Amino acid sequence: MCFVRKWVTLGFMKKKKKKNKPAEKVLKCICCKNEVYGSEVEEMKKIKIPYGANYTIKVDNDFLKTYKNSILNDKNFQWACDSCLASKRAIKGNPANQTYCDYSPYLAYFDRDFECESCESTFVFAKKEQKFWYEELKFWVQSMPKHCKSCRKEIRKEKQYHKRIAELNEKQGSLKIDELSELAVIYDHFGNEQKRNKYLNLVKKKSLEKKPT
Ligand SMILES: [Zn+2]
Ligand SMILES: [Zn+2]
Repeated sequence: MCFVRKWVTLGFMKKKKKKNKPAEKVLKCICCKNEVYGSEVEEMKKIKIPYGANYTIKVDNDFLKTYKNSILNDKNFQWACDSCLASKRAIKGNPANQTYCDYSPYLAYFDRDFECESCESTFVFAKKEQKFWYEELKFWVQSMPKHCKSCRKEIRKEKQYHKRIAELNEKQGSLKIDELSELAVIYDHFGNEQKRNKYLNLVKKKSLEKKPT
């Protein structure tokens, strides 16, 4: 009797266990790459994704699992499990503040490595910087940094130099001595020896010029 009962119970438990086996760890966290249960992504499920004027996409396991087939492009799809958020390895995104259309908004941000197109070094696109780009600067979600920080700085400097050259070119003939030296410095930076020397000579000439009385 006792044995039978035990068997029945065990059999029943076994069966029940099999039947109510918790959902498989079918989700793979994009941040930590760990397999997680659907119950471990609760934070993501609180996110609302506005899509179109009156439509909101609901984030659930299926969405996280099958985003590839969703109306959103998965190319840069980012989400993170609850433990990644708790450990601050990832921070939560707010699609309502992002600019997106054909690509998926960011549900989470975490540090990502990129290769600089100029110097080929690896640089980190930090999570906080990403949030700043997409939620404050309102860059399109598909825009990615192409250059490392120092190359970006250099590019910005060059742009400023070009702008300055254009500005000073408009004043050709009436350039002051400090503006002539400025052009010499800029052309020196660009490695244009001919122009650098031209402006250096002009600086020299100008400094020797007698002031008209
Ligand atoms: Zn994770
Ligand atoms: Zn670089």
